Amino acid sequence: MEQVSLYRKYRPHNFANLVGQDHIKTTLINALKTDHVAHAYLFTGPRGTGKTSSARLVARALNCTNLADDYEPCQTCDFCKDISDGRLIDLIEIDAASNRGIDEVRDLKEKINFAPSHAKYKVYIIDEVHMMTKEAFNALLKTLEEPPSHVYFILATTEVHKIPETIISRCQRFDFRRISQDDVSKRLQFIAKEEKIEVDPAALKIISKCVDGGLRDAIGLLEQLNFDGKVTLKKVQEVLGVSSLSLLEKMLSSLMQNNTEEALKVVHELHIQGSDLKQFMHEFVDILREKMLSSVSNGKLGETRRLIEMIDVFLDAQSRLYTSIPQLALEIAIIRISSDLESANPAKAVKQAAAAVPVAVAPTPVAPVAAAPTPVTPAPTTAAAPVTEKALSLTLETLKDKWPRITERIKTPSLRMSLKSTVPVKIDGHDVSLQFNTNFHHNNVMKNDHRVELEKLIKGFFDVNIKVLGIIKEVELKPLVEDEAPMPVPPPIDGPMVDQALEIFGGELME
Ligand SMILES: [Zn+2]
Repeated sequence: MEQVSLYRKYRPHNFANLVGQDHIKTTLINALKTDHVAHAYLFTGPRGTGKTSSARLVARALNCTNLADDYEPCQTCDFCKDISDGRLIDLIEIDAASNRGIDEVRDLKEKINFAPSHAKYKVYIIDEVHMMTKEAFNALLKTLEEPPSHVYFILATTEVHKIPETIISRCQRFDFRRISQDDVSKRLQFIAKEEKIEVDPAALKIISKCVDGGLRDAIGLLEQLNFDGKVTLKKVQEVLGVSSLSLLEKMLSSLMQNNTEEALKVVHELHIQGSDLKQFMHEFVDILREKMLSSVSNGKLGETRRLIEMIDVFLDAQSRLYTSIPQLALEIAIIRISSDLESANPAKAVKQAAAAVPVAVAPTPVAPVAAAPTPVTPAPTTAAAPVTEKALSLTLETLKDKWPRITERIKTPSLRMSLKSTVPVKIDGHDVSLQFNTNFHHNNVMKNDHRVELEKLIKGFFDVNIKVLGIIKEVELKPLVEDEAPMPVPPPIDGPMVDQALEIFGGELME
């Protein structure tokens, strides 16, 4: 039992357990009821929101020999059991992101017309379908035009904009939503109870908030943060690098009371603790947003206006966080807010600021922070310079281009979190250097098993042996990795490995 991950164990085996996607649940059950199940579905939505689980549920419901009255799969017939154990031969799962994608679509083309060997229907689930090559899409399109009556397709993707319109138009599309914090939290509570894990509700709240609507990540974190049957707030804050709630609250109340000195003390404290300021700002803006929304609904006009001003200032500060003195942007934001609020007496805020920090800080209007926004790394010489042996084929550009894909496939949740704020900055021989904003994330990624996991994954993508090195950011770089940023078209690069990588991952697709 220990071997099965909690996520697998609590994957929904029936519609009732599918969390947060009621609109999809209802439509699918209706289709089953009226015998109008479409031959091709497109499930799109953020990672970890239940797309693949729902696809398996459809496969189950189509083949179950003993469907319940409410169209729930019985979970006891041969087919239900085979699907649970991942050995139903007529349920074909293709991971378009892995090297196997191409061969399997080829195989699909050859075998699609054969009747199912065992079950009533053949169900093809194609995961991360946006990664398929042009050729694979063409092959798929032909079969989607006239699918044999015994075949059902379920395509799943996190990036629907990369799928050709011709494919989309042949599928019935379902948009999976980010699961609400409340639903995530409830599910975690349920699992914790089943597993007899003692959890601090505040810890669950943080986990639910951090995962941005992805239940899979949430369950992964719960599992990872469980020590001796306990998930404590302290541990969660530590592992997730989350700012302490008390400092966030202190910052808010200081600013609301226009107490610049106290607010600056919070920055000082954050600095001493070595906290991730980027994370702190992110969380703080989130708190301001919540407060703004509630003040709007309470009709507090003055307060709303003030909060909007504060949000503006902090958002602006976020974009200037990358200076050699990271806390500077935050300090300036605080002072700006105080002086905005006290425009009648701007000198007071500055005086207070000077009292709190033994460094002279410029009053408003704030001059642009010294290190002007450095343009996104122009891939220095290292990228172009060929290196010897096998790593030769991997350039910095290619690696950066695939970076979001790579980090997305990291299995360990805390490692994935730490990699979010990281970018590869250099390839030298077999050494790949990553740049970190904070010690915390640096140490987390460089932990032996984490580093090995990352290295293995990179090897899986490019078939090169590399060693990951970490550097802590000194000078300025803008973050390259944006979660939902569209994947840029890779530049023409020579070399057989790159060609192969492009072919496999469909880099020049869809433009
Ligand atoms: Zn069954």
